[in-house]
Amino acid sequence: MNTRIDAQYWMRIAVEIAKAATCRADVGCVLVHKNIIVGHGYVGSVHGDDHCIEPESDLDPNHVLVKVTHRGSTKTNTTCIRTVHAEVNAALKCTVRGSEHAEWIDAYCTYQPCLDCTKVLLQIGVRKMYYLNAYKDEWRDLYMEECQLSMHPHMTDEKRKHAAAFIKVTL
Ligand SMILES: [Zn+2]
Ligand SMILES: [Zn+2]
Repeated sequence: MNTRIDAQYWMRIAVEIAKAATCRADVGCVLVHKNIIVGHGYVGSVHGDDHCIEPESDLDPNHVLVKVTHRGSTKTNTTCIRTVHAEVNAALKCTVRGSEHAEWIDAYCTYQPCLDCTKVLLQIGVRKMYYLNAYKDEWRDLYMEECQLSMHPHMTDEKRKHAAAFIKVTL
């Protein structure tokens, strides 16, 4: 076993991939199955659409911003709805499916995945979602609390192997 290949190693690759991101944050995602990269993506526009940020100028006039309100809060945030999230782009390229028998896929994301991306990752057979920067999404947290795939403290070691969890990585 090559001990130089660890969570930091894959996360550094995710950070590099995120440098191509064209929306408001450098979000990148790498999918790893049996020590092989089986998918990668960054946050960007649908093919043929304008990008939010032109890499040359670093101006960002093109975001399509909407206001969102979080559960139990009166505060609104603005979010950009133009782009396909990094995790979804990575999942679209990924032809492998993780499973109990074929081994689960690990995801390395520069930001903690949102609710929709979390479900997409779980759906293709990701169980460990490593992230560099925390991202607040109360709906995601509620989903993970309720989700029967989530890791619970009382689980046996055998069940734990197949449970979904977010894991913070520090570089
Ligand atoms: Zn944008
Ligand atoms: Zn997302």
